[in-house]
Amino acid sequence: MNFQYWDPEIEKLPRNELESLQLNKLKTEIEISLRAPFYKERLSKNGIKSADDIRTLEDLNRIPFTTKNDLRDGFPYGFLAIARDEVIRLHSSSGTTGTPTVIYFSRQDIKNWAGFMARCIYGAGCTKTDVFQNMITYGLFTGGLGFHQGGEEVGMLVIPAGAGNTTRQFKMMQDYGTTVLHATPSFLLHLETKMKEAGVERSSLSIKKAFGGAEPYSEDTRKRIETLLKVDVYNSYGLSEMNGPGVAFECQCKDGLHIWEDGYIAEIVNPDTLEPVKDGETGELILTILCREATPILRYRTRDLTSFYTEPCACGRTHRKLHRITGRSDDMLIINGVNVFPSQIEEVIMAMKEVGNNYLIVVEKDGALDKLTVKTEVSAEIFMDDSRPLNALREKIKDTLQASISINPKVELHESGSLPISEGKAVRVKDNRPRDV
Ligand code: ADP
Ligand code: ZN
Repeated sequence: MNFQYWDPEIEKLPRNELESLQLNKLKTEIEISLRAPFYKERLSKNGIKSADDIRTLEDLNRIPFTTKNDLRDGFPYGFLAIARDEVIRLHSSSGTTGTPTVIYFSRQDIKNWAGFMARCIYGAGCTKTDVFQNMITYGLFTGGLGFHQGGEEVGMLVIPAGAGNTTRQFKMMQDYGTTVLHATPSFLLHLETKMKEAGVERSSLSIKKAFGGAEPYSEDTRKRIETLLKVDVYNSYGLSEMNGPGVAFECQCKDGLHIWEDGYIAEIVNPDTLEPVKDGETGELILTILCREATPILRYRTRDLTSFYTEPCACGRTHRKLHRITGRSDDMLIINGVNVFPSQIEEVIMAMKEVGNNYLIVVEKDGALDKLTVKTEVSAEIFMDDSRPLNALREKIKDTLQASISINPKVELHESGSLPISEGKAVRVKDNRPRDV
C-alpha cells in the first residue's frame, strides 16, 4: 500500500524519542496547569509545585485523575490557564444534563488541533484534490468545526453541510462531486436507506471514503456501510475535553486507531480499581492533553472502554493503536442481574443481512423483572406483509442474542426507515426503568 504521512518525522518518530518528546511536553503542560486555579490547588496538594517536580513519565502517576465532575465544578473559569483576552474560541457540552463543561482555545490551540486533524485526514489517504462534505453538527459540538479546520488544512474543498436533510445532502454530493464524507455511523446507514427511497443512483455519486465517529459502532456496522454505500470507512475518535475529533484515527490499514502520542498521553486502567491493566487488556482510557495552553486537562477519565494493540502497525507509524471503542463504562445495562453492553447487541444484529440499518434497545420493568426489547428495522428487501420470513428472522435474532448475551429478549421488527433517527449522536438505548427501584 502507498501510505501517506502528513508529518512523517513525527508520525514515525522512534519510540524512545517519542517518549522523551512526551516528557518535555508534559513538563510544559504542568507549567501551564499550575496557572489554572483548579490544578494549582490540586497539584500543590500532591507535592507538585513546578515542572521540575516531574522527572519521568511515571511521575504522572502522582497526579490524581480528573473527572467530568471536576470540570463541572470548575465551570466556568476554573480550568482556564491563560488571560481571557488570549482565548479565541470555546466549545462546550450542551449542558442539558446539568452544568455544562467548557473548553477554551488559544490561537495556537486551534492551530494544533487543526494540525492533528489534518494528520488524520491525510493519513486516511485524502488529498487537496478531494471534495469533503462534512455532514455533522456544527456549533458548540466539536465534530463540525474540528473536521472542518482539518479539511481546510489539508487543502480539500470543504462543504460545511451540517447534519440532517438527506435530500439536500444528495444534491450537494451530485452538484459538487463530493468524494469524502464525515458523519456519525448511524447517519451513514440512514443515508443509504434514504438513497434507496429517493431513487438516487450510486453511479451519480463520486464518494469514495467516509469518516465515521462520535459514537461507538461495531466492525459489522462498518462492513455494512462499506458494502451498502461502497465507500471505505475510517473510524475517528475524540472527545470535547481533548479538543474533539483528532485524538485517535485509523490509518489506511483500517485496523485500529493510532493515538497521537505527541499530543496525548494515553493510559488504560481497570475502571473499578483504577490500576493499570496488563498490556492488551481492555479498560478505561485515561487521557492527558499535551497540546493545549488555554485549558490543560491531566489524566482525564474518559469512561471509554478500549485496549492497546500490542503489535506495531504495518503503516510504519510508531504511535500506538487503540482497538475500536466498544462503549462507555457507564453504558453497561444490568438486566435481571446480567451485564450487557449495547455494543454486544449491535454486533449480533448488524451481522445479519436481513436486518435493516437502524435499531433501538428498550429496557423496562415487567412486574419485578426487567424486560429487554430489541426493535430493529428489516432490510428493504423484506416485505412487512409476508409473515413467514419475518417470524423466521425474529426467531433467529432471539436465538442468536440469547446465545451471545444470555438474555431472552423480545424482538420487534419494523419497516426499513421507520425507526427514529437522531441528528447528532444516535440514541440506541431507552432505559425506561424507574431509577430508584
Ligand atoms: P465529540 O464527539 O465532539 O468529541 P463529546 O465530547 O460529547 O463530543 O463525545 C465524546 C464521546 O463520544 C467519547 O468519549 C466517546 O464516548 C464517544 N465517541 C466519539 N468517537 C467515538 C468512536 N469513534 N467510537 C466510539 N465512541 C466514540
Ligand atoms: Zn497504521
